[in-house]
Amino acid sequence: MQAQLDLRSNYFITELNKLYFLYVYNTTLSDTHSYKFIESVRLNNRLTLTATELIDQLVDIKTDDVKRNQSYLRSIELIGVLDSLRSRVDFIIATAPGGAHPSANIEQLLNKLSKESMRHLTTDLTSVMQSRSSNAFDGFYRYIISIDKASAIFVNNSYALELHELEKKISISRVQLYGMISLCWLLALYIVMPILVFSSKISLWLTLTNKNIMKLSQGDLEISPDNSIMTGELSAISDAINQLRQNQIEKHLLENEKQELINELLEASSTDPLTNIYNRRKFFNQCSQITEKDYPLAFCLIDIDNFKRLNDRYGHDVGDLALIAFSQMLQQSLPKSTVYCRYGGEEFAILIKYEDMQQSMKIIDAVRHRTEMLRIAIPNKPSVGFTISCGLARLDDYQNINHSIKQADEALYYSKKRGKNQVSFYSPSGFISFDANDKNT
Ligand code: GH3
Ligand code: MG
Ligand code: MG
Repeated sequence: MQAQLDLRSNYFITELNKLYFLYVYNTTLSDTHSYKFIESVRLNNRLTLTATELIDQLVDIKTDDVKRNQSYLRSIELIGVLDSLRSRVDFIIATAPGGAHPSANIEQLLNKLSKESMRHLTTDLTSVMQSRSSNAFDGFYRYIISIDKASAIFVNNSYALELHELEKKISISRVQLYGMISLCWLLALYIVMPILVFSSKISLWLTLTNKNIMKLSQGDLEISPDNSIMTGELSAISDAINQLRQNQIEKHLLENEKQELINELLEASSTDPLTNIYNRRKFFNQCSQITEKDYPLAFCLIDIDNFKRLNDRYGHDVGDLALIAFSQMLQQSLPKSTVYCRYGGEEFAILIKYEDMQQSMKIIDAVRHRTEMLRIAIPNKPSVGFTISCGLARLDDYQNINHSIKQADEALYYSKKRGKNQVSFYSPSGFISFDANDKNT
């Protein structure tokens, strides 16, 4: 392609200059190759222009008598220019990479620009001036053509060299680029991948922890175990959650214990510890809750007969056994809804449905009769029995319960006075004793 270029055309030279400035702008003359190449182009331009002008001057010497002397002097000047260009070719060769030897073409160019050649040129010019012979002119012309050719080869070589250097640079850049890409992949492999793995682990851990915290907040202590190997703050959070779970378990246990204690206390505050039936406090509490429709009722007070004597004769333990046996008998004999209690000491109270006086006394007399049948076993001794005396009074309203208690107590006293082991009912007209043989009962 370069062989087709007309290096002497003005168009080519102009274009070359444009390229030159563009190249200077792009490369900013950063390395020797570029500088050398540019210098070659410039040198070629200069040689071409000088040679072209020298021919013009020769033509004028030969043909134009007016300009002849002036053209002669200009030609000498131009030969001087050619001579000076030699030092620039020398400089380019001296800066060749690795001290490379100039090629045969360059040697040819150097010869054309040598002192010897310049001398020949000056001699030829003188003979052209003196004789205007075409021989002298032809020799001169051949020189100019040969220097053109040598210069063109010189610049083409520089082009080839520069292209080669550029390719080298491109290949180095490519290697650097591939290196960078590989480095990026390595970075992704060694840095990003672990981060991704770690992130996914954290994500799993967060989901699990969130679930566990939700469960704990809802009172569910069956949280999923955290088997992830975490360090630092994360493991501290896991530990804290486990600690929270442990605290929740302990709190539940304490709450259960507390509830059991409360139940025990409630039980203790409402039952008699020896007989395990309601105490007096609970009895009145239950009475206060009876609704109006359940009235009328009969309030009954029971007192164990001669209990002091029983204690004295067989011991306090036997007395206790008698109290327990009597309470159990009440529990078994009375309907479930019946309210009764240990009223105090060896006294008991019962609240029964009042249908009529005889009917109420009949129910209580059945209790009296069963008591009579009870036997307290004493080791190595015959078993002992005991009796009870009972007093009843009608109760129409809880507001009047104290009144009824007093009346029942009076009826009980009446039973004792009449000989104990019997049932009496208070009536405004006098006490009525229960008689099992009464036709009405
Ligand atoms: P009365 O037939 O007139 O009722 O005579 P009594 O001996 O039953 O009556 P008194 O009031 O004189 O005696 C009641 C006795 O009951 C006195 C007390 O020591 C005894 N006692 C009270 N509470 C208990 C108890 O929890 N266990 C035992 N073993 N004895 C008790
Ligand atoms: Mg008593
Ligand atoms: Mg008594």
